[in-house]
Amino acid sequence: MTDDNNVVTCANQNCRVEVARLVHADGASFLQVGGLLLREAHGICIQCGTPFHWSVRDMLFEKLVGRLLKV
Ligand SMILES: [Zn+2]
Repeated sequence: MTDDNNVVTCANQNCRVEVARLVHADGASFLQVGGLLLREAHGICIQCGTPFHWSVRDMLFEKLVGRLLKV
């Protein structure tokens, strides 16, 4: 859901509208939406209505799973 430019897009393959940016600060990842850095974001895509869920904990979990898969 994130490309090389840290753009977070809608999960709907037919939509893919930019919904936020991923920002790294203080060793953690945050979702930048407007003037806010969010630890969690829950909502729906304004273009297509697809649910959107993101949280710092999910990112940490993904990193952990990534490490486990590399072993
Ligand atoms: Zn969408």
